[in-house]
Amino acid sequence: MSADTWELPEELRQIQDTVARFMAAEVKPAEDRAPHDAYALPGDVLAGLQAKARAIGLWCVRSPQEHGGAGLSTLGQAVVAEEAAKCRMGAYVPACGAFGADPPNAIWLGTPEQVRKYGVPGVEQGRKIYFAISEASGGADPARSIRSRAVRKGDRYVLNGSKMWITGAEGADWGIVFARTGEQGDRGGITAFIVNGQPKGMTLKAIPVIRSYAPYEITFKDVEVPVEDRLGEEGQGFAICEKWLVEGRIPYAAGTIGIAQAALQIAIDWARERETFKSKLADKQAIQWMVADSEMELRAARLLTWQAAWIAESGRGDLKVASSIAKVVATETAGRVVDRAVQILGGMGVSQELPLERWYRELRIKRIGEGPSEVHRMVLARQLLGTR
Ligand SMILES: Cc1cc2nc3c(=O)[nH]c(=O)nc-3n(C[C@H](O)[C@H](O)[C@H](O)COP(=O)(O)OP(=O)(O)OC[C@H]3O[C@@H](n4cnc5c(N)ncnc54)[C@H](O)[C@@H]3O)c2cc1C
Repeated sequence: MSADTWELPEELRQIQDTVARFMAAEVKPAEDRAPHDAYALPGDVLAGLQAKARAIGLWCVRSPQEHGGAGLSTLGQAVVAEEAAKCRMGAYVPACGAFGADPPNAIWLGTPEQVRKYGVPGVEQGRKIYFAISEASGGADPARSIRSRAVRKGDRYVLNGSKMWITGAEGADWGIVFARTGEQGDRGGITAFIVNGQPKGMTLKAIPVIRSYAPYEITFKDVEVPVEDRLGEEGQGFAICEKWLVEGRIPYAAGTIGIAQAALQIAIDWARERETFKSKLADKQAIQWMVADSEMELRAARLLTWQAAWIAESGRGDLKVASSIAKVVATETAGRVVDRAVQILGGMGVSQELPLERWYRELRIKRIGEGPSEVHRMVLARQLLGTR
């Protein structure tokens, strides 16, 4: 948003419109042929969509232009994330993968060799790369919970431990793994490593969850990581991790708003057609208020998300707090709005004829992943109360 208007800049309105049209004309018809819970399109279908998306500049929108991405501003990323989420698999696979998957932004903090070896091919291929922080000992407070350990032996580190709930680990080209090189319970004792492929000693086990797209438990047993694959210095891991999480929460929030807005539209269309007790649902105050509350809450969530994006770009404000607020408000709003849409649709709301039941399940994770709501409230409360 520019300083003197509440409108999106013209360039972003055009991108918003382009993505919305691409979703309707290209992504939706392709996804309609896939099973209800699919989280990937057939390879040839996806390749066709990706070629079209690349041709119009919609490729890895969060990655820098000089490395092959679209290099959009944080606000631009939020705008694209909102529209790209408006498909059945959109909660976890925006635009069904048509726009590629950005490598974690932390890779751009790496050495020129790491950027060349991992970052640039990551953008080129646009495949999911995993980011492994959480462990069985707790994901909400990783600085204190991480128990995986990396010990330097000459020109390599030897990694031991395990990670839980890691999305996209299977078949990934590489991932970023956080392990302890210093004292237990010390924020400064964590170091980030790039783990290339699936080296000897690394094993994966799928963890079935509420969504069909299972995350993985990864076990590392004496896995060797060359020193040149350490990302940043020893002890800088937590700062690298926060960069990814804090900036990522803005498009994360925007995506949930997109899903909820699509769910609300389904509910509105249904309420205008469906009759009970001799009148349309749209004529009943109980339904009108659900629709009105949903729209008001979504507008508020969007503005908070866009404000966080503006702080990310301008540096004028506390980005950590703003992105926590956006994440909590957007994910909780989206959960309520989809719940109301399910209610308005009745039995159809929970049937697999429509995307609502899938969105209802998958949005539930959003209040836990990338930091549970309670932790974000704690971040804000600490700032307000001046406590630690
Ligand atoms: C489907 C899925 C995919 C995931 N993908 C990834 C991934 O790709 N990479 C990755 O690293 N992690 C991933 N995660 C892990 C996710 O980030 C963690 O589940 C999350 O951070 C919570 O950690 P936990 O599950 O260990 O819960 P815990 O840390 O044990 O917390 C449990 C609950 O305790 C409460 N709580 C915690 N702290 C506080 C507090 N200060 N005040 C009040 N209440 C509190 C909250 O209600 C929280 O939900 C994924 C999780 C899921 C479910």
